[in-house]
Amino acid sequence: IVIGAGPGGYVAAIRAAQLGAEVTVIEKGSLGGTCLNVGCIPTKALLSSVSVLRQIRTAGEFGINVGKVEPDFPGIVSRAKKIVEELSKGIGFLFKKNGVKLIRGRGEVIEPGKVRVTSESASAEEFEADAIIVAVGSVPAMPELFPFDGKTVITSNEALGLADVPDRLLVVGGGAIGVEFACIFSALGANVNLVEMMPQLLPGEDAEVAEELGKSLKCREIDVYTGVKLQEIGRGQDKGISARLSSGDELKADMVLVAVGRVPDTVNIGAERLNLLDEKGFIRVDEKMLTSAAGIYAVGDAVGGMLLAHKASEEGVAAAENAMGLDAKMDYGIIPRCIFTQPEIACVGVSEETARAEGKELKIGKFPFSSLGKARASGETEGMVKIISDAATDEILGIHIIGAGATDLIGEAALAMKLEATAEDIAGTIHPHPTFGEALKEASLAVDGKAIHI
Ligand code: FAD
Repeated sequence: IVIGAGPGGYVAAIRAAQLGAEVTVIEKGSLGGTCLNVGCIPTKALLSSVSVLRQIRTAGEFGINVGKVEPDFPGIVSRAKKIVEELSKGIGFLFKKNGVKLIRGRGEVIEPGKVRVTSESASAEEFEADAIIVAVGSVPAMPELFPFDGKTVITSNEALGLADVPDRLLVVGGGAIGVEFACIFSALGANVNLVEMMPQLLPGEDAEVAEELGKSLKCREIDVYTGVKLQEIGRGQDKGISARLSSGDELKADMVLVAVGRVPDTVNIGAERLNLLDEKGFIRVDEKMLTSAAGIYAVGDAVGGMLLAHKASEEGVAAAENAMGLDAKMDYGIIPRCIFTQPEIACVGVSEETARAEGKELKIGKFPFSSLGKARASGETEGMVKIISDAATDEILGIHIIGAGATDLIGEAALAMKLEATAEDIAGTIHPHPTFGEALKEASLAVDGKAIHI
């Protein structure tokens, strides 16, 4: 039995079925979970519309004259909805193809091997299984400071179903979700302020990359306040919202989007009773995704760590394989992180700050996209590639990219790190010309001061 059909659960279910298990998935919402319904996919659909808009708006630079362009926000949102519906149906087809049974309802683990399912339409029913995989995911954190009403003070869930673009939007939280929404709504015409309490955007990521992002957001007229806490939110006389910051600034907005993190959706699923949770409510697991209870595995956002869809799916595969008697272990060292801002950001491995804190001697190579033929031809000259390698062994410790195509380029970087490549290995690999990938080669050459085009 798999509880939850997000990217952790549905992938686990299919993998277990491939290995010969009789699999039942229990899902209380829509197939695809957060990722497909209110996360990765709808945001990327909106960002794609925004990207088309930007391309048309800059068409003049490419020698193409177009008239005035207006985004049709309801059209943009309904395109995203259609994509979500199609992909969600696709998971249903995959379940059928793999013989996975789906039960609609809320699952709760009663004891190892036993799950109760409650739904609005039927009375509670109990099911037995040799193994249970809990993949219940996460929900937006909603701190008490914010007077959430689902209309003017909202989370990312509501932000994906708005009827109109707000005139003035305040985004609270400069992590991946906050900066992506800031880019979306700013491009669609909102006046956007963004507040992050940590000293940099994208806390935990390489500081230089975060700084580049800050510059790009400024160019897009998004006002960013870092190292500043939001202290109070009040309703103004003009029905607007006013937000007081620890810096003394007061910001006015029509809507506040709170993106200050996510919390595990592990309440009332039986995990507390079985003592499976840590102090933050995440399910504790070992490297085989097994909890402390016999035959109960857990994966995805519910177990914490990086809250990313591809990490959830990989854990789902590991849990399914272990449940089926194989020996799969998770390796968290090489998980790429992508932020789909404009320009995009993608990172794998450690930041310069983390590597230095670990006391390592480093060699660092950087290459700006502005020096790349392809980037100039495409009008995408913002950003850079930064490669951090171990000074003693030249092994790559981290690759950080901000710029066009970053989220696709990072696959090559992750493979290089998986194969324990050195910067010299990437530098010695012939990359096709003219492509954005050449920036990876040039940054690797720059590690030893051998870059050709800077
Ligand atoms: P979820 O996707 O949350 O799925 C859990 C499922 O379990 C849900 O369908 C839920 O209804 C169901 N469930 C919960 N409790 C029960 C129960 N008791 N019984 C039955 N069913 C239950 N990640 C990326 O990698 N790339 C991105 O670009 C990206 N963009 C994002 C953008 C936004 C706005 C958000 C919010 C998240 C984004 N993420 C992204 C994160 C990604 O969505 C999550 O990491 C991923 O969905 C986690 O997968 P999961 O299977 O663990 O949980």
